[in-house]
Amino acid sequence: MNFYKNTLTNMNKAAKLMDLDQETLDTLSHPQKTLMVTLPVRMDDGHMEYFEAYRVQHSELRGPFKGGIRYFPNVDLNEIKALATEMTFKCAVAGIPYGGGKGGVCCNAKEMSEGELERLTRKYVQAVYQIIGPNHDIPAPDMYTTPQMMAWFMDEYSRLVNQYSPGVVTGKPIEVGGSLGRGTATAQGGAYILEEYMKRHNMEIEGVKVIVQGFGNAGSYAAEILHGMGFTIIGVSDSKGGVYNDDGMDPFHIMKSKKEKGSVQNYDEGTNCTNEELIEKSCDILVLAAMENQVTEENMKNIKTKIILELANGPTTAEADEYLSKQGVVVIPDILANSGGVTVSYFEWLQNQQAYYWPEEEVQTKLKRVMIESLVRILDFQNKHKCTMRQAAYISAFDRLDKTKKLRGSGAHLRCKDYYK
Ligand code: NAD
Repeated sequence: MNFYKNTLTNMNKAAKLMDLDQETLDTLSHPQKTLMVTLPVRMDDGHMEYFEAYRVQHSELRGPFKGGIRYFPNVDLNEIKALATEMTFKCAVAGIPYGGGKGGVCCNAKEMSEGELERLTRKYVQAVYQIIGPNHDIPAPDMYTTPQMMAWFMDEYSRLVNQYSPGVVTGKPIEVGGSLGRGTATAQGGAYILEEYMKRHNMEIEGVKVIVQGFGNAGSYAAEILHGMGFTIIGVSDSKGGVYNDDGMDPFHIMKSKKEKGSVQNYDEGTNCTNEELIEKSCDILVLAAMENQVTEENMKNIKTKIILELANGPTTAEADEYLSKQGVVVIPDILANSGGVTVSYFEWLQNQQAYYWPEEEVQTKLKRVMIESLVRILDFQNKHKCTMRQAAYISAFDRLDKTKKLRGSGAHLRCKDYYK
């Protein structure tokens, strides 16, 4: 199923359950603004390469558009629309004062040099700088975009508007206005949710076996944090394949080995397997931290886990979600499970606005509070509507979005006539 249709299906199901005002649903079923551009970039060998790029501004009902930029070969408009829509719901789930947006560039970042990536990033900023800004639209990293790229982004934007503007982008390195705790925030937020969920259901951590799909920012930190909490990591994977050991593996050692070998595969204390095989192995918790459409109608019957923690966006399709819920598998949905990333992005932006930086304990205390409050609110809605956790998460977000829309009035999500120039 296409990712955007999947997102609309999730929205429609929740809207029906809560009897949502049709106009609120219709408004949120259309992104406010979509920008598509071609970026000409001079490559190291002297030739000019042309990259398709996007920025989708989905909704600014609850605050400035917010959402990452991904550099990925198959990026297309549908995917970015889906991700931008999810951001609106994710920010509303977390109760942070942002709307939703997302960006993407169709490129193979893994095969580009540092100089090419810098020129591409600066070109992207030149294309979007008039529609973004610290109080308007604030990008961040996503797949194959890094803190270094966010530093180039901030530098280029500041140059173009002739004003030092660290708050235009989050996920920056500490030295250029980043926040302590941002690098690990997505994984840490997911770990806080998992811990609280298990505590409320009297589940022990000891002996619980975990498989993590995706060993990038979200997945590798998740494996390390969960390992540190006492979970047993029995499998991990990256784009090249997986590695498995039912007795458990140390993710810090796997990371060291990945740096030497270029993949998690061929790790000394594990057995290689394909990505498809890895997510179908028996475990207690399956952390999906790679990309969308990983658990689908095709493999849902082979999934053998008790809990899925969605650190990636859209990794489980609507059909698979429904099937797994009926089988008693708890799916902790993306818009809750990975909202720690945008929450600490919000903290970073607040620190940039104040030019005053917080110690890590303060970041962690505030992050944990937001994550647990979001979970409790969703569990209350789940109890009230007797639905899946995903549907309850969408209901939690719709509840806030609908109230904001009604208070702001009928022109709520339209900026001004200049906006459409
Ligand atoms: P990343 O680029 O740091 O890592 C992606 C990882 O996935 C890499 O290890 C890559 O090898 C692996 N991968 C790619 N294709 C794969 C496949 N088919 N099977 C298994 N592994 C595969 O990206 P990230 O920032 O960790 O993002 C991962 C997911 O988490 C994305 O869906 C992203 O939207 C979501 N997410 C990230 C953040 C964040 O703060 N980084 C926040 C919220 C959501």
